[in-house]
Order: sequence, then C-alpha cells, then structure tokens
Amino acid sequence: MKKYDYVIVGAGRAGSSAIKGVRKEDQEGSILLVGKEEQVPYNRPPLSKELLLGDKTVEEIKIEDEKYYTERGVELELGTEITEVDPDKNQVTDDQGKSYKYGKLLLATGGSPRTLDIPGGQLDEVNYYRYLDNYQLLRGQLNEASRAIVIGGGFIGSEITAGLNLNDIEVSMIFPEDFLLERVLPKELAAIIQGDYEDRGVSVVKGDKPTRIRKNSDGLEVKTEEGRLLQGDLLVAGIGISPEVELAKTAGLEVYDGVEVDATLQTSEPDIYAAGDNTYFPFSALDESTRVEHWDNAKSQGEVAGENMAGASKLYDYVPYFFSDLFDFGFEAVGDVRSELDNFIDWKKKGKKGVGYYLSKDGKVRGVLLLGVWGAKGDARDLIKSEENFSREDLVGMIG
Ligand SMILES: Cc1cc2nc3c(=O)[nH]c(=O)nc-3n(C[C@H](O)[C@H](O)[C@H](O)COP(=O)(O)OP(=O)(O)OC[C@H]3O[C@@H](n4cnc5c(N)ncnc54)[C@H](O)[C@@H]3O)c2cc1C
Repeated sequence: MKKYDYVIVGAGRAGSSAIKGVRKEDQEGSILLVGKEEQVPYNRPPLSKELLLGDKTVEEIKIEDEKYYTERGVELELGTEITEVDPDKNQVTDDQGKSYKYGKLLLATGGSPRTLDIPGGQLDEVNYYRYLDNYQLLRGQLNEASRAIVIGGGFIGSEITAGLNLNDIEVSMIFPEDFLLERVLPKELAAIIQGDYEDRGVSVVKGDKPTRIRKNSDGLEVKTEEGRLLQGDLLVAGIGISPEVELAKTAGLEVYDGVEVDATLQTSEPDIYAAGDNTYFPFSALDESTRVEHWDNAKSQGEVAGENMAGASKLYDYVPYFFSDLFDFGFEAVGDVRSELDNFIDWKKKGKKGVGYYLSKDGKVRGVLLLGVWGAKGDARDLIKSEENFSREDLVGMIG
C-alpha cells in the first residue's frame, strides 16, 4: 500500500491551495491529491459568469496548469472518489478498493448541490449547477434554446439568469422569496436589482415554488404551487448546497453543519484537517462558529490547513470576502451579510454605487457590502474586527 505524508481529498479550490500551504513548510514530503472530478482543480465562479459570457475559455479557469503539480511532486488521482477514512490506521480507501496511508489528511470535499424533492426533480434535464460538466451541458444547449427556466433566486440562479439573458435567452426565474438575493442584500438593493432584471425582459416569478417538472412536446414544463406553468427548452437549478460530510462521518469525526475544526483547522482527529465549503470553523472576527461557501474562504483556508498539516500552528483568523456580478451590478462583501441583521446602505450614487453595513443589535459591524466600490475590502475588514459600537450616522462616509 502506498504511503504519503499528505493526502488531500477533494481537488477543488481548498484542496489546490493546501498544496501551496504544505510546500511553504515542507518541500520534500510526498503529496497525493485525490479528486472525484476528472479535471485538475478549476475555479467555479466563472462557470456562471465569464464562461457563459464567452469572456474566458475552459482552459483559462484552471487554478494551476498540470505542470504546477508535477513541479511540486504532487501525485494526482483524478476521477477517483475516496469512500472511507480509517483514522486508527491513518488510511483512506477509494471507490476501486485501493487504499493509501497518510501522515496527515485534508478533507476538502466542498459541497454538493441540493436537489428538488418533487416529481421530475431527478430528470437528467434538470441541471443542478455546480461543476464544469454542468456548464458544458448548458453550453451545448445554448445553440438550440430560446427559453430557459431558472429555479432559485440565490447567487447561482441570479448569475445564470443574467448570463442567459445576455445570450438572448428568454428566462423565467422562479424562487420562493419576494426578491432575488433577499437573504443577503438589503431589501432596497434587492428591489433595485430585481427591477433591472425585469426591465431586461426576465420573467421574475417570485413567492412561488415548483411542484412538478416534466418533459412535453414543447420542451420542459414546470408546474408551480400557485398553479403557473413555466415552459423552457432548458432548466437550471441553483437551490444551495449541502456540505460533503459523509467521509468525516465514516471517520467518526465531529460534524455539525460541516466538519468541525478548531482555530488551526484541525478536526477532532489530530491527523485530519478540513478546509473550504465543507468546514464548520471558529470565525474569530465574528466570534462565532460558522461555515462559509465562498471561493476566497476556500482558498485561504486550504492554504492555512496545508501549512498546519506540515507543522505550522497558524490560527485561521482571516476575514474572507465574496464577489458577484449581476449585469452591471458588481459587488464584493466581507463578513456576515445576512439581511436579517440590521442593515442600511450609504449610497454614493443612488441605485448604482454604495456601501451596505450589517450591524449587530449593539451596533458592531458584522458585515460590509461594497456595491461598485472597489479597493475597500481592507477598510471593511478593519471595521468588522474593531470592537467598537457604531450608530448608522457614525458609519455614513466611513468607507468609499
Ligand atoms: C457556479 C458557481 C459560481 C460561484 N461563484 C462564486 C463567486 O462569485 N464568489 C464566491 O466567493 N464564490 C463563488 N462560488 C463558490 C465557490 O466556488 C466555492 O466556495 C468553492 O469552490 C469552494 O471550494 P472547495 O474546495 O471548498 O469545494 P469544491 O469547489 O466543491 O471542491 C470540492 C471537490 O472535492 C471533490 N470531492 C468531494 N468528495 C470527494 C471524495 N469523497 N473523494 C474525492 N473527491 C471528492 C468534489 O468533486 C469537488 O471537486 C461559486 C460556485 C459555483 C458552483
């Protein structure tokens, strides 16, 4: 049985970064990177943005090219799923029954798309959008299609809708909330963006849910709770992800809403670490444990986990950000931006450019949303890390 100093399970953003982290501390140790997908690690954000708009090619979304791994002495096992972890033997086993010993193990297994538990929810034509394969399926459909149904009003659904609209596809977008991105954006902004979608011809079906999907002579038909019938030539669903925690469970690790780790990203088993979308970690600046489903968190957490697996004892105290582009609205957000928090926008240019602040009950800044305001993530982080209490008036003009 082959033995590696480091085995990384999950060849995504966090898994790829872990290699950089390990090599900062240990230039010699052997590394195996195992990934269920066939591709070398690639960035997912362009799947719903630049690739759809033709601004990038598939080749350009690779995180690193193949040479990067060879040069760092990393062995790749792609198209391979790890199905079991045995922490007593420091051993993992793949779907072919092949086992590998590890010195340290990283679980960077990310998340899997949630699916619709309704009749037709499992049809092959329902494109639960997360992987390159999902993009390729959609790309193949674009030449023939003129109408699309998009289920979900979160980031994936909203970005895909914008991308399809810009490809001259007529989109019906359905979600149960009153506004798209309602759980994140201040209501005022969500309403503005939704208005923009409608002005551009998107049919926004809000406050409604699909109850059945079926194929008919006219393509795909979605029946809704309110009795609507939506018709499309293709269907994309973005209704959230579930953290991939099955392996952690087989290993007997502590799992809550994700694999539980301490501030060094170590799980309840000392030789096993976790990073990325699957990880429930202490977010020090917010003083709470949480799980974050964003690119920058996966990138930086993977790197710190790699360093710590190789002997460093760094605390993960970074405040990650996320970004999105929705037609002409581009934003970055730092910290906790749940719209259920007290929030308001300090407009720099009404409806176009501004800074959203999300506050705790006692006036601490939990999150900052930067709409069209660039280069201010550092200021946002400083505010979130500060222990000060602010009133809305104090914050106006503070950033941007
Ligand atoms: C379409 C799309 C657009 C996005 N846009 C943005 C954005 O604009 N901004 C932003 O901040 N974030 C965005 N995200 C989220 C961001 O891409 C994720 O947060 C990030 O990819 C998480 O990285 P990860 O390495 O934790 O997990 P993943 O990227 O999910 O990678 C995990 C990998 O592990 C593999 N795996 C799982 N289990 C096993 C196993 N047992 N054995 C082997 N391999 C396994 C999976 O197949 C997968 O390849 C977007 C995501 C999607 C899907």
